[in-house]
Formats: sequence, C-alpha cells, structure tokens
Amino acid sequence: MYPPEVYGPSWFTGWIIGIIIIDAIVCAGLSGYVADRKGYSNGGWAACGFFFGILGLIAAAGLPRITGTADYMAKKCPDCGEPIRIEARVCRFCGHKYDESQVINELGLALDSEDDACVRQALLELLKEIESKEEKQSGP
Ligand SMILES: [Zn+2]
Repeated sequence: MYPPEVYGPSWFTGWIIGIIIIDAIVCAGLSGYVADRKGYSNGGWAACGFFFGILGLIAAAGLPRITGTADYMAKKCPDCGEPIRIEARVCRFCGHKYDESQVINELGLALDSEDDACVRQALLELLKEIESKEEKQSGP
C-alpha cells in the first residue's frame, strides 16, 4: 500500500496533467477559430493555443483583424474617387455604373494576385447572376 504522501501528489499530478491537456485542446480549437475569423492561419494559431494554452488564446483574441484584404478588395470610383468594393457594379457614393465585364475582369485580377475566398465567391455570384439574367432575356 502506498503511504498517503505518495498517493496524494500523484493523484494531484494526474488532475493537473488532465486539466492542462483539456485546456490545450480547448484553447487550440478556440485560438484557431478566432484567428481564422480574423483572417489568420487557423492551423498556426491552433498550435499556438495548444502549446501556450490560455495565453495563446488571449494572443489570438488580441490579434488585429487583417485589413490588408481591403487593399485589393477596393477600387477607386472614377467619378467621385471614393473607395468601393471591387465586386460593386454601382458606386455607393455617386451611383456610377460599372460595366459587368469590367467588374469580372477586376475580380479575375484580384484572384490572380491573391487567392481569396471572398473574391472567388463574389466572382461566382456575379457570373451566376449574369447567367440567370441572360437566360431570362433569351427566354420567351
Ligand atoms: Zn462614385
């Protein structure tokens, strides 16, 4: 039989290790999720949360949202000079209308420079919309 002093600490150590492992897994998941939502690498920050636990999660929570995407997500309106979304077909400031093929071109260029899910999604939606519009026009 183990003396109580030996049994006590090992029981305690087991709990601590268990809590650290659960903490690591939970923080990894949350850090990855938070970082991903802000435009950072999910896997990298999940590893950070796994190894640094709550500290990694705090670091991920404190990350500034990546706004670099705005650089190529925005274009300048030729009429009023305001920055508007690259997939916009109408300027939200002055109402300047863009040619659909021009917008598709710009989205294509943005995709070339950086493969972004938002740009790809916008391009697909635009193409789908144009397609359905053409179907309606050619229909009876
Ligand atoms: Zn404008």
